[in-house]
Amino acid sequence: HQAQVNGDISIRNITYTYYGSDEPVLKDVSLELKQGEKLALLGRTGCGKSTLLQLLTRNWDPQQGDISIDGIALPAWHEDSLRQAITVVSQRVDVFNGSLRENLVLAKPDGSDDEFRDALAKVGLEALLEGKGLDTWLGEGGRQISGGERRRIGIARALLHDAPILLMDEPTEGLDRRTEQQIIKLLLDHAKDKTVLFITHRLVGLDQMDQICLMDEGKIIESGQHDML
Ligand code: ATP
Ligand code: MG
Repeated sequence: HQAQVNGDISIRNITYTYYGSDEPVLKDVSLELKQGEKLALLGRTGCGKSTLLQLLTRNWDPQQGDISIDGIALPAWHEDSLRQAITVVSQRVDVFNGSLRENLVLAKPDGSDDEFRDALAKVGLEALLEGKGLDTWLGEGGRQISGGERRRIGIARALLHDAPILLMDEPTEGLDRRTEQQIIKLLLDHAKDKTVLFITHRLVGLDQMDQICLMDEGKIIESGQHDML
């Protein structure tokens, strides 16, 4: 039995320095997201956006400051509960050698083939089903997939994993503009009631965010609503 997670996120005065480096990449960063709120994080390359996301998923722990979800500090979360609470579309989607089904089932262990096919259709990947369907082998010794297809597999996984928190790290990088519009709409419709942290340096979807924060050299230098742009 899993307790219901609301999806409140609180990031307080985080400082993070990579091992072996002497300069922090995040400096006293604070962000507050209530259940269902949507925040876009913008900033130039290397400013620390993805690092912040990695701290939220507890890949690494900050040296200073606290992160909590639903008021519970991240270190106190059970690994499984945390995985169930958060969906991540990472900047680099990992597709492994295996069937299409195996590449999706990790997002929804009890998902049915119909659900997997439906998610693939939503992201425009029906063509991958031609021939062997969900048994189509991806990667080495199988179907080589393009960068765009890889991204869409990442999006399909996010649609399948129904968690109260959605973290997206430039989910449409490398996709054409029309596809980008469709995918962002799909993700934001899916995340209507979810708490969303959306890392991007594009303008698509920003009108639907409650907060827009601008990061520079590891600090939040500005935050406001859509009209600040
Ligand atoms: P981009 O927009 O290019 O994705 P970003 O804002 O996501 O950039 P990060 O990936 O968070 O930036 O990187 C912030 C800084 O930390 C960069 O200077 C980067 O070189 C450094 N960095 C990132 N990952 C590591 C790591 N594993 N070890 C050491 N330094 C790292
Ligand atoms: Mg990044």
